[in-house]
Amino acid sequence: MQGEIRIRDLCLHLGKGEQRFQALDHLNIQIPPGEFVCLLGPSGCGKSTLLGALAGHLSYSSGDLLVDNEIVHQPHPDRGLVFQHHTLFPWKSIIENIAFGLKMKGIPVKERLEKAKQMIDLVGLTGFEKKFPAELSGGMQQRVEIARVLINEPKVLLMDEPFGALDAQTRVHMQQLLLDIWQNIKTTVLFITHDIDEALYLSDRVLIMSHRPGRIIDEISLNFPRPRDIEIVTTPEFVELKKYCMQALKHDDLSNLKRLNPLGLPKKAVREG
Ligand code: ADP
Ligand code: MG
Repeated sequence: MQGEIRIRDLCLHLGKGEQRFQALDHLNIQIPPGEFVCLLGPSGCGKSTLLGALAGHLSYSSGDLLVDNEIVHQPHPDRGLVFQHHTLFPWKSIIENIAFGLKMKGIPVKERLEKAKQMIDLVGLTGFEKKFPAELSGGMQQRVEIARVLINEPKVLLMDEPFGALDAQTRVHMQQLLLDIWQNIKTTVLFITHDIDEALYLSDRVLIMSHRPGRIIDEISLNFPRPRDIEIVTTPEFVELKKYCMQALKHDDLSNLKRLNPLGLPKKAVREG
């Protein structure tokens, strides 16, 4: 299995001329194949920028950005990106939307429709093949978004606040669905959110980003058993971790954080110096 992400001393600047500023500052992340990692950080800290670089849409100033030891310099279906907003073709049916990526790869129609049907079943949309995006709820459209990325069998799934626009109940359903899918296909997931509950519930490890320019200031390993039950969010351990994350997002000062860590939790500062 593959899908290893290695980011070393990544610096990235955005804007032009006088407007140019540093968005990412010597950022380091290592993710082994198959891990589910959530990236938590304040608004505007550079989370989407980092994902854009990993997807191959943004070029960086210095450092290394490697997936399976290959330098990332352009988009590739091996690195699938799911956003909050919808990117479906309104004039294509659900099955056509999902099969579209395979059409681009030149895969024959019968094969791509079969594969698209499998994806439809995987995301729980059986029976909606012929519908059009506008006929589906927000949560269902988001399932289609996920299916159309998964059909490429990505090694790495990059998710940028994918459930941010959904109501609370739909959101929990989608989180559960995503975990079920991930347990089936075991692709590496880098999931961005500013929702602490979501990060702690979903991931093996939470990385916490500083204010702009973004770097990783802390990480927390989660040992809650899988498959996970949403009930864990009410356990004392979860609540303590949540408090810790809230503090971490407020303070960039790690020495202060060490005193705040209430449980001596398995946490490791990855900031150098
Ligand atoms: P996040 O996803 O963490 O909220 P972003 O990565 O979207 O943050 O943005 C990081 C910072 O860069 C923000 O202050 C944002 O306003 C700014 N920004 C994002 N894209 C551009 C761009 N193309 N040109 C200039 N500034 C940008
Ligand atoms: Mg963002």
